[in-house]
Amino acid sequence: KSGFISIIGRPNVGKSTFMNRVIGQKIAIMSDKPQTTRNKIQGVLTEKDAQFVFIDTPGIHKPKHKLGDFMVKVAENTLNEVDAIMFMINAAEGYGRGDQFILDRLENVKNPVFLIINKIDQVHPDELLPLIEQYKNKYDFEEIIPISALQGNNVDHLLAVLKEHL
Ligand code: GDP
Ligand code: MG
Repeated sequence: KSGFISIIGRPNVGKSTFMNRVIGQKIAIMSDKPQTTRNKIQGVLTEKDAQFVFIDTPGIHKPKHKLGDFMVKVAENTLNEVDAIMFMINAAEGYGRGDQFILDRLENVKNPVFLIINKIDQVHPDELLPLIEQYKNKYDFEEIIPISALQGNNVDHLLAVLKEHL
C-alpha cells in the first residue's frame, strides 16, 4: 500500500513536529521555505506494509494578500489528487478564522479529510469534547483524531487509520 497524504493547517499547529516524529532523521527534504511547485513533498515514511508520502499544498493556507481564483482552484484540484487529507488544528487554540479559510477550500473536495486535533497534552480532557462537537458541525470529517505530535500520543493510531485509506 502506498499513497499521498496532504497535511494542511494554520501555521504553528504542529505540522513540522508531526513530520519530525514520523519521519525523524530518515529524510532531509523537509523544508519550511515557500515553494511554487504544486505539491511539496515533506517526507516519505516507509513501513513494512505501507508507504506514506506526506505533502504540503501551497495555496491552501490563508495568504497575506488575496489569492487569485486560479491559485485557489489549483490548491483545490491538488487536494482532489491525494489519497487523504490531514487537517491539523491546535487543541489549545480552538476554532479560528484561519481554519474557516481552509474549510472553505475543502468544500468541493471529495477525498477523505481527517481532523487532527494536535497538542492534546496542552488541554484538559474535558475541553476536547466541546472542540470536537464544534468542528463536527463545520465539516463532514472522515474521522476526528486527537494527537500530541510532540509527545507522540495516538500517532500510531493515526497512521493505522490513514493506512486504511491508501
Ligand atoms: P507548523 O507551523 O504547523 O509546522 O508547526 P510546528 O511543528 O513548527 O510547531 C509549532 C510549535 O508548536 C513548536 O514550538 C512545537 O514544538 C509546538 N508543538 C507542536 N506539536 C505539539 C504538541 O503536540 N504539543 C505541544 N505542547 N507543542 C507542540
Ligand atoms: Mg512547519
